[in-house]
Amino acid sequence: MTDIDTYRARAREWLTSVAGEFGKEARRGLSVEDDLALGRCYQRAKYEAGYAGINWPVEMGGQGLTHIEKVAFDTEEMPFGMPTAYFGISLGMPVPILQRFGGDKDFARERTIAALRGEEIWCQLFSEPAGGSDLAGLRLRAEQEGNGWKLNGQKLWTSWAQYCDYGVIVARTDPTVPKHKGLTYFWVDMKAPGVAVRPIKLAGGDSHVNEVFFDDVRLDDGHRMSPVGGGFAVAMATLMIERYVATDSAGFGPHLDLFIDLAKSVEINGKPAIKDGRIRSAIARNHAMRTALDAITARAMLMMQAGMEPGPEGSLNKLVSVRSRQRLSELAIDLQGPAALAYDEHALVKEDWAASWMNAPTGRIAGGADEMLLNTIAEKILGLPQDHRPDKAVPFNAIPA
Ligand SMILES: Cc1cc2nc3c(=O)[nH]c(=O)nc-3n(C[C@H](O)[C@H](O)[C@H](O)COP(=O)(O)OP(=O)(O)OC[C@H]3O[C@@H](n4cnc5c(N)ncnc54)[C@H](O)[C@@H]3O)c2cc1C
Repeated sequence: MTDIDTYRARAREWLTSVAGEFGKEARRGLSVEDDLALGRCYQRAKYEAGYAGINWPVEMGGQGLTHIEKVAFDTEEMPFGMPTAYFGISLGMPVPILQRFGGDKDFARERTIAALRGEEIWCQLFSEPAGGSDLAGLRLRAEQEGNGWKLNGQKLWTSWAQYCDYGVIVARTDPTVPKHKGLTYFWVDMKAPGVAVRPIKLAGGDSHVNEVFFDDVRLDDGHRMSPVGGGFAVAMATLMIERYVATDSAGFGPHLDLFIDLAKSVEINGKPAIKDGRIRSAIARNHAMRTALDAITARAMLMMQAGMEPGPEGSLNKLVSVRSRQRLSELAIDLQGPAALAYDEHALVKEDWAASWMNAPTGRIAGGADEMLLNTIAEKILGLPQDHRPDKAVPFNAIPA
């Protein structure tokens, strides 16, 4: 057994010991507020057991281990269905960026420990109504006022903003220079006067994304996390913070075994669906895809263990797995017939085909839309030329709206 196998085995043992209290059965039927409260308790239990901030510095409340232990723990944790979603963005991007770019290190340490213990949550305020893929085209303004700044504008699709205490935000501070050069990066108190959060109801029934309005929100200059005009580089650092994260070859939807069970239990033309050639070929294709993605993940883990950086092939994971989950969910709904569409507001995306199908499109947009991932694959893996970017050198305020 390697050290990492031992680490994994211990993690699995701990996760099994708390699954009854925090896992998917304990969560079934809870309101979002109750589930969040349970999630905070789980996050605290993780912190106390040494499984929060696994690869973060000890002086920041972390465990000082490597990215490999973190990916190993996250992979073990996934099947238990623990209430982690509320903290994914917070601990994934804004909090580590605060540690790196926040000017006041004592403040960063206090916030990090509160976030690791599930007491505080951070959001990421990047996307806007005018666009999300083109981050440098954002319009929310930050104008200098005395020793500080005044924010005016709107963000959109901000995950969990309604429950957040703080956020990181990119704002336009100079519209007279090309779009990438006029941005500045700040942190913001989500409870400050002038911040208004309005949840958006998604097709699947949940409302975890929000519109966030900023109306003369005042920040002192200590909130600034980049040089004035240097916000794009910090935004890129935020998006690239972890080249490799734990992935789920089921695309965060139901496992293939559930589909096989379903195909055994229903009939097509008087015969079990599992005997139908089209169903068998869909199962085989899905199995091949998952095996290939698992192989990419295994290779990335081995590269990290050998001290190397995994390549951009990680961008294949989300693209392929979520698309494939959407197709499999659609086929499962066809097999189930009208019964599949009975709406269950507490259905789990990892177990319910209709919930999985309904929720899949958001997975194909959040964290980089399919087309943007295809661009990454074209440019970084296949070495094809970059997209035409005609507005790159034009002052932002001269780009036609
Ligand atoms: C569930 C969910 C959670 C989210 N959470 C957050 C969050 O917490 N914080 C945050 O800031 N944002 C968040 N987002 C926003 C997300 O990052 C954006 O939706 C995403 O980047 C796409 O931006 P857009 O919706 O503005 O679409 P657009 O950028 O307007 O794109 C529209 C379409 O055009 C395509 N397109 C755009 N540019 C190109 C190009 N150059 N080449 C080819 N095709 C292109 C896109 O792929 C897409 O199909 C979330 C979104 C979702 C769905």
